[in-house]
Amino acid sequence: MIYLDNAATTKPAECAIHAAELCLKQDFGNPSSLHRFGLNAQLHIDLARKQIAESLGTEPERIIFTSGATESNNFALRGITSVYGKRNKKKIITSAVEHASVRNTLDELEKQGYEIIRVQPDAQGRFHAEDFLSQLDEQVFFISMMLVENETGRILPVQEVFQKVRKRYPEIILHCDAVQAYMKIPFKLKTLSADLLSISAHKIHGIKGTGALFVRKSVRLKPLLTGGKQENALRPGTEAVPLISAFGEAVSMMKKNISERLTNTQKKKAFLWEKLSALPDIYFNSERENAFSSPYIVNFSVKGIRSEIMLHYLEQKEIYVSSGSACSKGAKSDVLSAYSILENLADSAIRVSFSEETTEEELFQLVQAIEEAQKNLIHQ
Ligand code: PMP
Repeated sequence: MIYLDNAATTKPAECAIHAAELCLKQDFGNPSSLHRFGLNAQLHIDLARKQIAESLGTEPERIIFTSGATESNNFALRGITSVYGKRNKKKIITSAVEHASVRNTLDELEKQGYEIIRVQPDAQGRFHAEDFLSQLDEQVFFISMMLVENETGRILPVQEVFQKVRKRYPEIILHCDAVQAYMKIPFKLKTLSADLLSISAHKIHGIKGTGALFVRKSVRLKPLLTGGKQENALRPGTEAVPLISAFGEAVSMMKKNISERLTNTQKKKAFLWEKLSALPDIYFNSERENAFSSPYIVNFSVKGIRSEIMLHYLEQKEIYVSSGSACSKGAKSDVLSAYSILENLADSAIRVSFSEETTEEELFQLVQAIEEAQKNLIHQ
């Protein structure tokens, strides 16, 4: 089996499974209970919060656990708008390529009367800080930008935009969806200047169903749910202790070798790029330059073969890739349209995403299978 869909989800690490198992079998108490069982469960949450806070360079109290980055993004967008969106503060700036959990939430806020500015990439697919900054005025109260876009891996100039906004309009709240960057592309929360930052456990070898939102101390958020006092009363509901504990362990494991992994992944990307370039009718939707595109994601189109056909052809060979983004479930990709990728090529888009376990041998087999598909499916 060759698994090349790590941007959709990753294999849970042994340490994460072990941590979850301990919380399921032994420390299964409710963290809000006052007895020993409750306390033991609470200790697992405390540890995970510390592990995640340390990885971001912040204090544990700033981390709120959620059910995943979809909730973190919803919480950030809706929670901020409820508090800071006023009659004379109606504008939100974002990019045209955000994940559906940001994009669709902003579409809904637009229907409620907020003005959403969706900044487009240039003809090469690059985003420029100036295009975000030129939209600033007294009505803007919120900016939401992703660090690494999940379909082609493009890197957005979040740090440059946020740092400059911070200087010129310090009252604007800044949110970053860092799901595809966290533990992959090194960044520092402090230099990024984000007020809010979303991350997800299952993209970094944790378990599906939990994530977190970093919330700067000075920022006020209206909770999405009403209920108990968990997570500082910001996210009521009994905590998913096994998943949270697994998240913390996955972070501890992943944070040890981010730079080394990044260098190795850059080599894998270069290898795949070179091998694919030798085939006819391959069009890259990602960028080769690592300064503009995460090496963890390579998106390309095999002209003449629709994504779905290719995906199932590869599946027969036990090679697992994605067509565009897994979240879109085969629907047309708004993100690829934003990059002005021609419709017939967007219909043939394949996303390959790496983990540290991906080998050049696996990538070689992928390229061979694509070459074979071109012979069998186009030139028959
Ligand atoms: N943002 C980005 C950039 C993502 O790639 C994803 C997952 N596809 C999410 C948010 C949502 O994360 P989750 O699956 O934890 O809800």
